[in-house]
Amino acid sequence: MSELYCKGCGALIQHVDKTLPGYVSEQVMATNDVRTVLCQRCYRIRHYSDIITYSLSNDDYINVINKISKENALIVKIIDIFDFTGSFVPAIKRLTGNEDVILVGNKMDLLPKNVKPERILNWLKLMLANEGFTVIDSILISAKFGHNFDDLMALILKHKGNRNVYLVGSTNVGKSRIINQILKRYLGMPTDVLTVSSQPGTTIGLIGFPLLDGTMIFDTPGVINKHQYTHYLTRTSYKLTVPKKEVKPLVFQLNEGQTLFFGGLARLDIINGETGDKINLVTYFANTLNIHRTKTIRADELYETKLYTLLTPPFSEEEAVPKWVYHDFRIRDNLKYDLVFSGLGFVTIRAPFYVRAYAPFVVGVYTRPAII
Ligand code: GDP
Repeated sequence: MSELYCKGCGALIQHVDKTLPGYVSEQVMATNDVRTVLCQRCYRIRHYSDIITYSLSNDDYINVINKISKENALIVKIIDIFDFTGSFVPAIKRLTGNEDVILVGNKMDLLPKNVKPERILNWLKLMLANEGFTVIDSILISAKFGHNFDDLMALILKHKGNRNVYLVGSTNVGKSRIINQILKRYLGMPTDVLTVSSQPGTTIGLIGFPLLDGTMIFDTPGVINKHQYTHYLTRTSYKLTVPKKEVKPLVFQLNEGQTLFFGGLARLDIINGETGDKINLVTYFANTLNIHRTKTIRADELYETKLYTLLTPPFSEEEAVPKWVYHDFRIRDNLKYDLVFSGLGFVTIRAPFYVRAYAPFVVGVYTRPAII
């Protein structure tokens, strides 16, 4: 049989992998006219106004980025504010300098209501700047609840001029939800919005939606980011670990020589309070994640003997997370800081302090000025 291409996005039709462009089940192929076939993603957009984004490895993603970088475009870079390390895609750096970038921090609904949005944005911008990235504007949204979407659209329209817009981000940052919100709110989703935006035979399969002025807003594939816990945990563990709802603060008073375990996924030792006083900590993690307190001298043994039983998730050796490494933080001023375990949560501590944070090496661990 000759090669077939999706009539919606131009991707090569395949029956093997749902997460890649051009997927059509064999059953659908057998019962439909192959000349007019749409891939699963285009079918869902057309019939349910619902988009699923697909993912690519970093290498394939470079092709997408190269294609975009040839054009003068507006880039909307989406970041999961709960997981900077898991959201950052080094490949996107190739766009720096050429393209204007708007930073969108998604999942603001997970943070307590009293956070200061500008503090989060400042921190994200700083993190991006450290990676050599500058942005022309930034905004926090919740794709789940539709918060700030009018402002997001206003920003896009303000900056785009007569350029096309590309939404980029790693998998799980919420790109599908964002596009669905945009489609439903602003594009009315008529059935004829699908456009062939890539040459047949490319696996890029970008899908574009026309804006009123004739330019396009494009969905790009999500790049798989190895720094996300998703890739290491079973579904059950993932559900317990990654916050689904607003994270609730828990207050701890700890002495030097005490340790907190966050399930079996991360650990924090209080090495020294610097002043000799107890240290007040406030933790912000998924409400379902087990936080266990112990003495630091017992912590190694506890981890050896109680990982998978008391210290969960993970629940078994089969889902062992990558090797832990530790990061020391010693701060001597009097300001409040968040110690962030990217993708998991954060702990607010007032300096001065000297702490040691353990987490799998793939997980970013850093401090930032407290956002609350
Ligand atoms: P994509 O891979 O970037 O397309 O991400 P999805 O849109 O599929 O979302 C990935 C996960 O994040 C799903 O479990 C979503 O329900 C969740 N998610 C997306 N946006 C939000 C949001 O604004 N708030 C919360 N709490 N979860 C979100």
